[in-house]
Amino acid sequence: MEAGAIAARLAEVRSRIADAARRAGRDPGSVRVMAVTKTQPREVVEQAIAAGATLLGENRVREAAAKYAGLGGSFELHLIGHLQRNKAAEAARLFSCVQSIDRLETAEALDRRCAAAGRRMDVLVEYNTSGEESKSGARSRADLDACVEGIARLSSLRLRGLMTLGPLGGDEESTRAAFRLLARVFEEARTTAAGSACDVLSMGMSGDYEIAVEEGASLVRLGTILFGPRDP
Ligand SMILES: *Cc1c(COP(=O)(O)O)cnc(C)c1O
Repeated sequence: MEAGAIAARLAEVRSRIADAARRAGRDPGSVRVMAVTKTQPREVVEQAIAAGATLLGENRVREAAAKYAGLGGSFELHLIGHLQRNKAAEAARLFSCVQSIDRLETAEALDRRCAAAGRRMDVLVEYNTSGEESKSGARSRADLDACVEGIARLSSLRLRGLMTLGPLGGDEESTRAAFRLLARVFEEARTTAAGSACDVLSMGMSGDYEIAVEEGASLVRLGTILFGPRDP
């Protein structure tokens, strides 16, 4: 795929996002698009940046390190996949935000590495809103709250919000319910001291981003709809 084709797809999704935002009475400018480049080769990343993508996402630390090394341009890179503690140092070098924190131990490891590197990092806590066993993310509200409160005590991390994945192959109703749940928990978290800096609600992928925008997403994560199907 070429930069022009990616730019056209970006324009199409931005227009659909604007429509979804208006349906919900939201400001169309309040939703950011992340281009998810996992499994895509480096040349696709370069084309996405040339096409105007300014926010990119990867779900594996090693893959991101190899693919993004030395890439020029002005963009942000976020980790959206599970972070193993032994990759925390590399993550602290590579990403401006880790969206997939689901245990305090991981946050603490990342905090130590960021402190050692003299930087602060934005993080989101991932919540498993569908109850599916195969998914990562905090599994209960108590686990989520413990994570949120614990992160607030870490000096090198800044809690910016929450992230979730909609149910796998879910129908519209269950998808909407999952996003609505995250939006409610997000609003509650923002009223607490620990969550007072939260302004990012990351939900919605290629198959369900319009529903996510209707339910309040401020960031949608899109791969397939921008780059085509991934090789298995
Ligand atoms: C792969 C991935 C996406 C993008 O999925 P698409 O369906 O290809 O848009 C979004 N979020 C996460 C966490 C992912 O792993």
